[in-house]
Amino acid sequence: MNIILLGCPGAGKGTQAKLIEKKYNIKQISTGDILREEVKKGTELGLKVKEYMDKGELVPDEIVIKIVEKRLKNCKNGFILDGFPRTLNQALKLDEILEKLDMKIDAVINIEVSEDEVIRRLAYRRSCRKCGAVYNLIYNPPKNDEICDFCNEPLYQRDDDKEDVVRRRFKVYKESTEPLINFYKEKGILYTINGERDVDEVFNSIAEILENIQKSK
Ligand code: AMP
Repeated sequence: MNIILLGCPGAGKGTQAKLIEKKYNIKQISTGDILREEVKKGTELGLKVKEYMDKGELVPDEIVIKIVEKRLKNCKNGFILDGFPRTLNQALKLDEILEKLDMKIDAVINIEVSEDEVIRRLAYRRSCRKCGAVYNLIYNPPKNDEICDFCNEPLYQRDDDKEDVVRRRFKVYKESTEPLINFYKEKGILYTINGERDVDEVFNSIAEILENIQKSK
């Protein structure tokens, strides 16, 4: 099965993609994770994209399209695109790539979350550099103010989780990515679900959609 997860930053696409990957044994392709890894390793590509990412801007289309094209070739058993496409141009290029590979998208799942909830989820997120634990100062706070429960290290905030950058990321989503909802609605493959629920409840909605699609295949 080939799936696209749509939704603003902080909608829970990455979390849901990992659950889908596990249950259905299909590969997650997260352009955000791939780019962050390049930045962390300090590669030439990482240096090129860091500035865009830190500001909450989109990385140029050609760069992400190349990344996705390379990975799709190894996804004959199915894939979950998480964070791609993010522009109409990326969506059109994706259609061309899939046609060449004789593949098609079965479902585009649009996870809906409000801007206020995105701010609560992302701008209050803190992580530990040492053990990688992730907290949320509202939903899942550490026992002591901004100190890791496990390592006693001070927690840090990702540059792109600063509130002004999160608001910028949300604005970029509204302008560049939201139009894709109609693009996929017109193709008849769009499913919209409420993302402001527990992780398990959101996943149950997704599983129901995917199982109906599998049955009708
Ligand atoms: P994410 O973790 O999906 O929110 O992505 C983090 C950042 O990576 C975004 O704010 C963009 O700067 C960049 N990025 C990820 N995916 C794309 C994409 N499909 N097109 C352009 N930029 C992207």
